[in-house]
This record gives sequence, structure tokens and C-alpha cells, in this order.
Amino acid sequence: MREALMKPISQGSFFAFLLAVFAGVAVHAAGAQKSFEKRGGICPAKPVVRDVMDPLPPDAVKLTGGLEVPIEKSIAHWHKGNVPYREFAEFFRKGRPKFALGEMWGKFVRSGAMQYRHRRDSELKAVLDGAVADILATERPNGSISCVPEELQPGGDGHSRPHCSDLWERKYVMLALEDYYEWVERRPEVLASLQRQADCLIRQVGPAPKRDIREIGWSPNCIESSSLLEPFMRLHKLTGRKEYLDFARYIIESGGAKGSDLFAQARAGVMPWRMGEPYPKAYEMTSIFEGLAEWHRVTGDESAREAVLKYFDSVLRHEITIVGNGGGNYPHWPRWSGEAWDNTAAEQSNPDMTRMMETCVGVTWMKYASQVLRLTGDVRAADAIELYVYNGLLGAMKPDGDGFSYVNLLNGEKVTNKGWGWTFASGPVTCCNLNGPMGLAYIPFCTTPARPSPRPHRAPKCN
Ligand SMILES: [Zn+2]
Repeated sequence: MREALMKPISQGSFFAFLLAVFAGVAVHAAGAQKSFEKRGGICPAKPVVRDVMDPLPPDAVKLTGGLEVPIEKSIAHWHKGNVPYREFAEFFRKGRPKFALGEMWGKFVRSGAMQYRHRRDSELKAVLDGAVADILATERPNGSISCVPEELQPGGDGHSRPHCSDLWERKYVMLALEDYYEWVERRPEVLASLQRQADCLIRQVGPAPKRDIREIGWSPNCIESSSLLEPFMRLHKLTGRKEYLDFARYIIESGGAKGSDLFAQARAGVMPWRMGEPYPKAYEMTSIFEGLAEWHRVTGDESAREAVLKYFDSVLRHEITIVGNGGGNYPHWPRWSGEAWDNTAAEQSNPDMTRMMETCVGVTWMKYASQVLRLTGDVRAADAIELYVYNGLLGAMKPDGDGFSYVNLLNGEKVTNKGWGWTFASGPVTCCNLNGPMGLAYIPFCTTPARPSPRPHRAPKCN
């Protein structure tokens, strides 16, 4: 993969130039951040684990042809197209007619922030600035940005739609604001709002008498809600606040899903389609392990590292198909519409299969592989990214970049919107339409020449 993707930028002199630019950017950014942190009274957490590979800094990567053109089209026709992102924010003011629709705002802004990291497009920034200002204005008196009225938080009675998706939706607001803060603009009001959102969740969710995170969600094991692990770890890294690390520990100790300890199962080598039964939902499960990777990076927890790497091994071996994506409905989980792990590597040619390889799964798998690549430098992770980008991801994109196929049968229809989503006046929007652009945005983030971290981590001096 590196040879294929590096060609346009592999000249030695240009690489040296990039490193010099990186050094200058890093010094400047460190100074500005230190000043801001001093004013804001926050102290970023010190990671214990040093990544063996780092992405190149923002705006440093120039791709050509087959990879840059899809990115350009997606920015032009998706983020700057007619996506009804203002209507997405209205769900937080007026409620939503269907569960999980509150994820749309976060997914749209999250991928837009990552696209902005790569291409400093001023029109894209204007879209993102407006969307962020709009969502911040929906913050409720208790600090939450939620589609659910305060008196019904968190998540209504826990299982009834639409409010059962409350934690999942609030997770995506947090992730989007973290990506905006990290890659677009470090606005103090964004970080302040993130902390109020997290503080509200900590007041509402946790050990008794608070609400159990495994009892709030739309799936039978509420697996999706534990994906709050990632935004809490990222917020802990930004602020150093112990409360967020404690909440992450609560999620991990809860096992990630009702009735299962996903992390123990990963360490034991349980096949992914048998993890988290009765719903081994591929995309949500992998999101949780993304958060576990962040936990390991910050804490140095070796049992977490073991779970992260064994989960990667198991998915790679048992679930990933010839186009780099995974999950399906037959034979194991026909009731889950092809969105569960399904021993897919073995079953990919099963003629009974009618839905498989949701784009949300592939994009999240790609992001997870980039975590493993950064942590270990394992070439199998780079290969997994390459296989998915060139086959599953680009193969799922509509030619103009204004949408992605929901499910991706090897011998079936592409660009179907049949599945979860909502039809707006401007057209249908699905989870996969929203996640596909994140995969594109990750191409320059995780497939360009990775380099060792230049300096050992040092404890920040904040006091
Ligand atoms: Zn999807």
C-alpha cells in the first residue's frame, strides 16, 4: 500500500520538506495550545503509550488521481451539496420522528472536520462553523445536547423508541465537536460545551443509583451506548480531567454490552460473530474497541492492548471479505439485516446472503485498522486499509460522491438506500451516506507515510 499511495509524494527532498514543515507546525501549535490551556485551566492527559507511527500533519498530504478525485467530489457534492444539516440540528430542538436520527448531525460534521484537515477549504469551514454554532445553541440547561427532553433523560425508559438512542446520538455530537476542535478551530466554547455534555452524562449514567449504560439502547444488548468510550477518552486527553477517565473505566468494567464482556471475549479469542450475543453488531462493536485503543494509549493498560490486538486479529481472520469489508445476515443472524458479524470471511459466497458489508462497518473497520497501525506498525493493518479503500470503499461510492451504498453484496445491487435512514425534502439520508465520507477523509490521515513519533512523551506542565 505504501508504495502505491506514496508515489506522488515519495521524493526524498519533498519528504524532508514535509518533516521540516511538520516541525515548524508542531512548535507553533504547541505554543498556542499551551497558552490556551493556561488560560482555560486545563491540562491535557499524558499518554503512557507512544505510538510507533504518526499520521502526517494536517494539510501536508497531496494525493493525486484515483484517491484525491473521490475526496474532491465528496466535499463538493456532499458537504457542500444539499445535505440538510440544518434539519439535522432541528432534531435537537424539536425531537425526531425516528430513533437514532440525532446521529446525523454528528456524523456530517465529524467527516467534514476530517475533510477540512486534509483540504483547507474555506467554504467547507463556513459550513462547519455554521453547523457548530447551530448545535451549540441547542444546549439544554443541564448541559446536554440531546434530542430527549431533560425530564426523560437519559434515554427515556431505556428501550422504547425513539428516545432509546439518546446516548448514541449524544456520542456523535461529542465526537463531531472533538473533531471540529482538533482539526478545524480550537474554540474555547466548543471545549467548554463538551465538558458540560460529559458532566451531564456522568450525572445521569453509571453505577446505581444512576442508570446502567447497558440498559439504554435500541438493540437487545444496548451495545451501541458503550461506544461513548471513545469521546470520553478523547475528552480526557484534551482536558486531563480524571472524571472522564473514571467514566471510561466504568464502561470498560461494564463489559460493553448487556450480558457480555466484549473485552474478555476478545482476549479469549471468541469469534466475532459469537461476541456480544444476541447482537454482535459489527459497526458499534468496533466503535467500542476504537475507544479501548484510546484507553490503552492513555493508561498503558496491557490487558486492554491484548483485547485491542486480538479483536483486530479475529475480525481480520473471520470477517473480512475479498473487498475488505465484513458482516452479513445469513446463515447466523438473519434477523439483524446484515449488520452483525456473521463469520463473513467463510460465508461471503453463501448464496443465501441478501444483505452484507454495510458501509458503516467498512469505514469503522478502516478507522480501527488505523488505530492498530499507529499502535503497532503492523503491516497487516496497512494491508486491511488498502484492501478496503480500493475495493469496498470506493466501490460503494456513487460516481458523483453524493452518497454511498448501504449494503454491498458481492453480486448484488449497489447504491441502495434500503435500510435505516430518513427521507428529507432534498432526498434520502442513511447512516452509510453519512459514514462513507469519513472513510474518504481517513485516506490522507492513515495511508500516507507514517513516521515514528519524534519526541518522547513528557508530562505537560500546566500549573
Ligand atoms: Zn450504515
